[in-house]
Amino acid sequence: MLILIINSGSSSLKYQVREIHDDGSEPDQPILTKGLVERIGVPGSGIPDHAAALEQVDAHLEEVLAGRTIDAAGHRVVHGGERFSAPALVTMEVIRAIERLAPLAPLHNPAAAQGLRAITARWREMPQVVVFDTSFHQSMPEEAWRYALPDALYTEHGIRRYGFHGTSHDLVTGVAAQTLGIERDQFRAVVLHLGNGASATAIRDGKSVDTSMGYTPLAGLVMGTRSGDVDPSVITQLISRGIYTAEQMDHLLNKESGLLGLSGNADMREVVEAAEAGDTAARTALEVASYRLAKYVGGYHVAVDGAQAIVFTAGIGENSAPFRAAVLDRLGALGVQYSAELNEQRSGEPRVISTPDSAIPVLVVPTDEEQAIGALTLQVAQQHGKL
Ligand code: AMP
Repeated sequence: MLILIINSGSSSLKYQVREIHDDGSEPDQPILTKGLVERIGVPGSGIPDHAAALEQVDAHLEEVLAGRTIDAAGHRVVHGGERFSAPALVTMEVIRAIERLAPLAPLHNPAAAQGLRAITARWREMPQVVVFDTSFHQSMPEEAWRYALPDALYTEHGIRRYGFHGTSHDLVTGVAAQTLGIERDQFRAVVLHLGNGASATAIRDGKSVDTSMGYTPLAGLVMGTRSGDVDPSVITQLISRGIYTAEQMDHLLNKESGLLGLSGNADMREVVEAAEAGDTAARTALEVASYRLAKYVGGYHVAVDGAQAIVFTAGIGENSAPFRAAVLDRLGALGVQYSAELNEQRSGEPRVISTPDSAIPVLVVPTDEEQAIGALTLQVAQQHGKL
């Protein structure tokens, strides 16, 4: 079976075609083709919208698939609001619901809806499934998702913590539980998705009970270019003093802050290299980022009543031994002990890097959001008798 996986960004469209068997397993080389269309909607690019981008993808697929047809499409959608706590089979009503959630993700949801409409028009009979970044966190209790703001902000404007990276946190939770031989529905963990964007999630009974991103993906950890947590008054004061407009402030917090703001570099590899070469700004960036993350781990250890695992994933979590060490070195109070040798080893497999006497096992688990979206697409389409 061939599944087309689509990840529509605000001005880009990433795609993959994956081979997947009826039982959900994959061959050794599951990716038939993949690509990226960029500069969508940018004047002069010749790609006015996501529908036009999909036409490009379609033309490319006809060439490479040599007569084979796509059986289903799975779309990553950033925001499912409170409506979607699980992946859904696409209907016109589901597309309209995604469009209605646009105020929560003004750049992403309309782009995703355009892609959905374009595919529906092009392949009317093909089952499509939407997988939301927010769904996994709909299990959070109110004490975790509520902000201490007047009730009307929630009831009238939907202002609350939603959380993101859900597909990855979900996948990695399952793999970590399996690696440790613990039943998923009894598994308590702190999962750290550390990529360009970064979030920590508290897992109890295999479900998300708290997460560091909030109403938007700006909250929480120090990221490549995002600030994570800051005192909200910093923002209101700088705007009311006329130093920044709201739009400039948004850009500053999302694109010019985090590791980039602190050290001049957004890429963890380069920050670590600069720190090792003695650059003090890079050292500070690593200290601020690892300290912030360690505080979240401590907090979530409490939130889940004692974690049975601390799990690292995504670009930095999987690959940056120095950053993992910088975080783990701060967790002595939790009885965490890791092996420097295991931490340094590179592998594409899930693995334990703590020592046997560590109070909490520490794991590195590779994430693969596209694979997870492919598997969920097959599962949902099969449940509805579409495949
Ligand atoms: P992701 O968003 O999961 O693709 O992660 C991207 C981030 O992973 C990049 O910004 C890099 O900083 C980081 N990264 C990837 N490989 C390495 C590595 N070998 N060492 C440190 N950081 C890495």
